[in-house]
Amino acid sequence: MVINLDFKNLKLYIMKTDTKESQKSTTEKGKSKDTTTKSAPKKTTTGKEVKAKKSAAEDLREFFVDALKDIYWAEKALTKALPKMAKNARTPKLVDALTSHLAETEGQIDRLEKVFDLVGEKAVAKKCDAMAGLIKEGESILEETEPGPVRDAGIIAACQKIEHYEIATYGTLCAYAKTLGETEAGSLLHASLEEEKNADLTLTKAAYNDINFAAASE
Ligand code: FE
Ligand code: ZN
Ligand code: FE
Ligand code: FE
Repeated sequence: MVINLDFKNLKLYIMKTDTKESQKSTTEKGKSKDTTTKSAPKKTTTGKEVKAKKSAAEDLREFFVDALKDIYWAEKALTKALPKMAKNARTPKLVDALTSHLAETEGQIDRLEKVFDLVGEKAVAKKCDAMAGLIKEGESILEETEPGPVRDAGIIAACQKIEHYEIATYGTLCAYAKTLGETEAGSLLHASLEEEKNADLTLTKAAYNDINFAAASE
């Protein structure tokens, strides 16, 4: 009975707002027609072509090197972020996963330095805005939770977003290396890609087997 009544009210409400909305849009349409006849037609701001900087990459090789600098910065930033996450995690399996991925991350930095060398470029880090944002989001999760299963679930969520970003990045870098004929660099990048995929999988397992259920029963 109560549900039926609610449904009726809801239907009535939708009908009311619908008529209001359609009335509004017709008057607005009328207005915009008026202004376009008076002034020159306005150019749309969406879908605008972006003007390139003077430093813009001229070819795929240059773009590839820029992307290497970006992930080089990101990996270095992670060597500072991962220990902080590990220190704040309580579940032993999660602490282990984060600690062993920190060691892998250090190896990935070495690998990137080899890649720079192989393609004849100096190893330079260029700030990755995406990773900076993902790390910042992880830090705010720590501030928003007490130590325990809920915080651990939050750490997993933040770290998986990071791993997914790295997977996307190394996937792209592998493809570019192949296209550019940089076979050796490509296989090094591929090794890092596989490590990132594994790290992601380990985090998923930790979430399902050890953490999320505990977090739910808190
Ligand atoms: Fe990494
Ligand atoms: Zn980036
Ligand atoms: Fe992104
Ligand atoms: Fe990673």
